[in-house]
Amino acid sequence: MADQSPIWHPFTQHGLGDPIPLVTHSEGARLYDADGKYWIDAISSWWVTTHGHAHPRIMAAIRAQTERLDQLIFAGWTHEPAETLAAELMRITPDPLTRVFFSDSGSTSVEVALKMALGYWFNIGEPRHRILVLEHSYHGDTIGTMSVGERGVYNRAWQPLLFDVDTIPFPHEGMEQATLDALEAACSQNPAAFIVEPLILGAGGMLIYPAWVLAEMRSICARYGVLFIADEVMTGWGRTGTRFACDQAGVIPDIVCLSKGLTGGSLPLAVTLCIEPIFQAHWSTDRAKTFYHSSSYTANPIACAAANANLAIWRDEPVQQRIDSLADAQAAHLSLLSHDPRVANPRRLGTIAAFDIVAPDAGYLSDLAPRLIAFYRDHGVLLRPLGNTVYVMPPYCIMEEELAQVWSAVKASLDTL
Ligand SMILES: *Cc1c(COP(=O)(O)O)cnc(C)c1O
Repeated sequence: MADQSPIWHPFTQHGLGDPIPLVTHSEGARLYDADGKYWIDAISSWWVTTHGHAHPRIMAAIRAQTERLDQLIFAGWTHEPAETLAAELMRITPDPLTRVFFSDSGSTSVEVALKMALGYWFNIGEPRHRILVLEHSYHGDTIGTMSVGERGVYNRAWQPLLFDVDTIPFPHEGMEQATLDALEAACSQNPAAFIVEPLILGAGGMLIYPAWVLAEMRSICARYGVLFIADEVMTGWGRTGTRFACDQAGVIPDIVCLSKGLTGGSLPLAVTLCIEPIFQAHWSTDRAKTFYHSSSYTANPIACAAANANLAIWRDEPVQQRIDSLADAQAAHLSLLSHDPRVANPRRLGTIAAFDIVAPDAGYLSDLAPRLIAFYRDHGVLLRPLGNTVYVMPPYCIMEEELAQVWSAVKASLDTL
């Protein structure tokens, strides 16, 4: 345990004194400490680890790249790992997405998407700045991404700085038409863009909505000429059962954000893809039309090499088959719990399984989630419920016995409530 550490951890209330385990190595779905004790990583280290920890091909690609080129200014310069990655991303995403902008985190990729959208309208001489968002959304923790996300206790201190957005109600079952009507009404006011997490809202509580609603939302935006931004930072790379969530709805966004699983979860990297007219609106001999955005580590060569290894794994290994069998196993485990009176709204999308615990006073600040997190940690499982929502989102390599251990910890946690 790291007790006397000066580290201020993210999303951690140090005043509660919870132990902070010190992990020394990892493999597959397991995190180990120095004594060889392990935890099963049932949330993929916060949704990033897809194929498994320390995948040999990704590790080898990183090692090989460190022998060649470590880092390069990307403004006006380029390198092979980025070119290879861009070409491969073009190959696996829909044709209308023709341009790739690199950055280094999901939040940054969303900031870039918003700046691209506003830059487009500004540069074509029709300035627009309203952004439409879906209720309960999460797009990151920077000021801009908090602005387009759900407001609550986790961003209250900064609310005076957050910009105004128009919020479309979440399409709860049976209420889908109200969402579509609200979107249509908002689109008629000429906003710049609509940003949405396709098919499932992650941090908002693993809220799932049907593919036809996503498709319908996309076509409303197209009809009104409102840019459609898909934040696939969490949903990308197989999480929802297909490589990208938009694939299930036949949706081609104007702008797509990818990060988390882009490097298989090994190194920080993100991309924002966009359609040609957005790039063309910035293409000019006029320097004032330049897209003024960069992070120091934009397209870091080692991170790009890791992403290329991820894409090679998708090409060469039965990734889809692993995803399908994990999805089936998750469905089976969830169905065993679904009639439990303490379990509400059991739901699953691809490899993600979630349910809500029926408990009085189960808001975000109740001590339910911290108690559960401690219980799971003590039972050799890394799970991190969102309020009263318990979800299991493991790496695709998780073994049957490991997944069974995760779900038995979930079952045991219900018994201790
Ligand atoms: C995690 C997440 C982000 C932010 O990504 P970071 O890499 O943590 O900055 C943005 N959007 C969605 C949907 C996410 O799940």
